[in-house]
Amino acid sequence: MNEAARTMLRRRIAEQRDELVRFLSELVRAPSPNPPGDTRAACAVLQRWLDAAGAPYRIVAPRPDAPNILGSFAGARPGPHLVLNGHFDTFPTAAADRWSHDPYGGEVAQGRVWGTGSSDMKQGTASLVALYGWLYAMRDQLAGRLTLTAVSDEETFGPHGARWLVEHHAEEVLGDCLLNAEPGAPTTVRFGEKSPLWLAIRVSTPGCHGAYTHKSASATKIAAAIIEALAELERIAVSLPGPIAEAIENGAAEIDAVHAAGAAATMGRVTLNIGGWNGGTLVNMLPGDCTVEADIRVPWGLSSESMIAAARDIVARFPEAELTVLSRQEPRWSDPTHPMVGHLRRNAEQIAGLLVRPIPSLAGTDARLWRECGVPAFTYGTTATNVAMPDEYTDIAEWLDVVAIQALSALDYLCDGEGS
Ligand SMILES: [Zn+2]
Repeated sequence: MNEAARTMLRRRIAEQRDELVRFLSELVRAPSPNPPGDTRAACAVLQRWLDAAGAPYRIVAPRPDAPNILGSFAGARPGPHLVLNGHFDTFPTAAADRWSHDPYGGEVAQGRVWGTGSSDMKQGTASLVALYGWLYAMRDQLAGRLTLTAVSDEETFGPHGARWLVEHHAEEVLGDCLLNAEPGAPTTVRFGEKSPLWLAIRVSTPGCHGAYTHKSASATKIAAAIIEALAELERIAVSLPGPIAEAIENGAAEIDAVHAAGAAATMGRVTLNIGGWNGGTLVNMLPGDCTVEADIRVPWGLSSESMIAAARDIVARFPEAELTVLSRQEPRWSDPTHPMVGHLRRNAEQIAGLLVRPIPSLAGTDARLWRECGVPAFTYGTTATNVAMPDEYTDIAEWLDVVAIQALSALDYLCDGEGS
């Protein structure tokens, strides 16, 4: 039904191939490591593309050096509201002395664009900005509304990026469906994320001289016993919702490919990481104070509340210990049979011959903020290559396929409406 529009869009993408690669290279050459998070140079590169396309947007900058781009336009008739989301801050350059390419050179070589953030996720944000411009030019043929959110402040889970937009501009940015372009693997569309639950456990005892172990219990020894006991959390039985269990079973190979071997086995259970440990002052003093920080990842089918209760029960066995909740979220997922998933799968097959599976994800993206508000949210992107490692890159041929898959899926969603 929208074949003419699809053909026009594919032609446009093919015509702009070289321009797209230059765009990504230029974006990589505009450093935006976070921290410290000054993203103005990268934002200016994105703005130049939007200006050239004549597409509407404005800057929302609760922090002046970390601007966000918010753009929106309506189609010619009523229909669903699709929102695009990507970030253009990056991790700081990892191990700069071990790169064989300039981290901020935006070098195009060996069929790749090299540099910090080239994979996570300047490629994804560049493609969403480009597709927003292309679809703006075709707005007469579209139903509904398309909104672009290109944000700073993602890498540190800061409050001034997507969270700011969702909390302060909800009417404009929530929409009916979110497409996020974080890298992962183009053979997967990610529809849910485990949720981090962060706890601090502080142990206090009188403490004393290190030779007088009869005088005081040791805070560090108690903390060690608590860490061992907390491992019980990893054995909590989980009753996964049907679609999640099915996706993990069917997508095990893809899950391991995206998240490294062993990920599928980990996906459906609770994991515990002791991310912090701080106790003791001197080797010959018996510590009276020790703090442990636990990063617990909660799978679907459990709640943060039940996990906190289980952790409290364990910590209660140690009268010298006190538990504080640092941060909590709920594990969420969107319907893997949503029309957007269907569009992505069909286009991936047509454009690149890829079989795409819907899978849940271990780590968090800004897509979770939309799910928290009840908006179906999906992540589709290129292979994550050397993210937060030396010689990060994006493969150009794969990226151009993904750009086309994302753009045509957005077009299909806005041409056909939700029910197709
Ligand atoms: Zn990212």
